[in-house]
Amino acid sequence: MPTPPLRQTEIVRPWNGWPAGPQKTLRVWRSADSLPQPLPGETFLPFGLGRSLSDVCLNPDGTLLRTPAMDRLLAFDETHGVIRCEAGVTLRQLLEFLTPRGWFLPTTPGTSQVTVGGAIANDVHGKDHHRNGSFGCHVTRLELLRSDGRRIECSPDTQGGLFLATIGGLGLTGLITWAEFRLKRMPSPWLNVESVRFGSLEEWRRVAQEDGAWEYTVAWLDGTRAPFPGLHIRGNFAASAPASYRMRRDAALTVPCDAPGWLLQPWLIGAFNRLKLLGQPAAVKKGRQDFQSFFYPLDQIGNWSRLYGRRGYLQYQFAAPHEHAMGLLQRVLETAIASRQPAYLVVLKTLGSAASAGLLSFPMPGLTAAIDFPNLGKPTLELFGRFDEMVRDAKGRLYPAKDPRMPAAMFRDGYPEWREFSRHVDPAFSSGFWRRVVGNTP
Ligand SMILES: Cc1cc2nc3c(=O)[nH]c(=O)nc-3n(C[C@H](O)[C@H](O)[C@H](O)COP(=O)(O)OP(=O)(O)OC[C@H]3O[C@@H](n4cnc5c(N)ncnc54)[C@H](O)[C@@H]3O)c2cc1C
Repeated sequence: MPTPPLRQTEIVRPWNGWPAGPQKTLRVWRSADSLPQPLPGETFLPFGLGRSLSDVCLNPDGTLLRTPAMDRLLAFDETHGVIRCEAGVTLRQLLEFLTPRGWFLPTTPGTSQVTVGGAIANDVHGKDHHRNGSFGCHVTRLELLRSDGRRIECSPDTQGGLFLATIGGLGLTGLITWAEFRLKRMPSPWLNVESVRFGSLEEWRRVAQEDGAWEYTVAWLDGTRAPFPGLHIRGNFAASAPASYRMRRDAALTVPCDAPGWLLQPWLIGAFNRLKLLGQPAAVKKGRQDFQSFFYPLDQIGNWSRLYGRRGYLQYQFAAPHEHAMGLLQRVLETAIASRQPAYLVVLKTLGSAASAGLLSFPMPGLTAAIDFPNLGKPTLELFGRFDEMVRDAKGRLYPAKDPRMPAAMFRDGYPEWREFSRHVDPAFSSGFWRRVVGNTP
């Protein structure tokens, strides 16, 4: 049967650049649109802005449902801070609407170039997980469009099982057409920020224990040399700052194409890290930052992932319980150095005890580390295989949104509720990730 004209074939790559390949895509224009009949054997997968670093947003041999044209705000309760919007609305669009009105996102990942559907389907977390949990904790209702044409409104009280499966559900339970969620009051667009220098992982742990009064915290460290010095950054919205603020355009600078593979070398990254630490000679630096600089520093450079070259980069992100997390982190970073593949970027966040919203949500009480490596192919994959053993021993798990090679056993051990989840998967929805970790297991 010929492919209907609506479907196009294009090269799709996730944010980290790998794995990229040709994909059939189909644009969904409005939340009220119906889905086309799947062709024999065809599967669908929603696709937001492709800011995932893995094949959770890819469906080779299937069709991606591109959602960013579903971009309407549907309702806003300014008194109670509740918003309803189509699932293709981006966090950036929401910020443009909300922040001049004194409201902010309930929580946010490190980029605003993410759709609401993508934020729910990966149940994303931010610098405030220890206080506010993940994005899904704030969703009150959503609508799912299933491949059989049914529209199902879900909330914790109605269709609760499907709701729990859809939060962090990796796009597999159907197309989220719209969602409603609670917002957070924003007293001003500015944050009071404190940056604390630390000399080692052990010192970082002590600094992070004093986070009590801080709503947003994150640590960056130099993974190229033990004992891993770095900066611990914490912020609170300032109550008394002047309210007037115009959001800057994202991506004032854009990397136009893939840089040559030799550009980013370990010695260059090491030198950059040293300079960054030299830039803060004081043990503690206090200041004020606007919310864009604080939450989304990387959005200021468009396509920065292309600096890694054609093969892109791989991020290894694990979560582990407090009692094992520091030892695990130390072993991972030391193993990377001993293998002559030091980490290029290491970011740490504390995960709080808020119950995760979804059956497959990534956060667990403890610590998460997101560690970037240039993709060198086989040597990097072998290194990640060694990390996997360590994460298992530490009773941790890996983040599907960031891992295009997670072995099936790692997924099943880390997410024991996957069988319960799979009962809610739409029979005509699938992804490269899902087929890899679950295959045809009933
Ligand atoms: C620079 C950077 C920083 C990041 N920082 C963080 C962070 O701090 N914390 C964090 O948790 N993540 C972080 N991420 C990851 C990112 O937030 C997630 O991968 C997010 O889900 C991407 O959203 P997207 O709209 O691009 O969705 P895509 O990547 O296109 O898709 C992600 C998943 O959502 C599903 N999906 C998309 N739309 C819908 C829909 N309408 N209905 C059903 N399913 C849908 C897709 O099928 C897929 O499974 C970061 C990514 C980058 C590039």
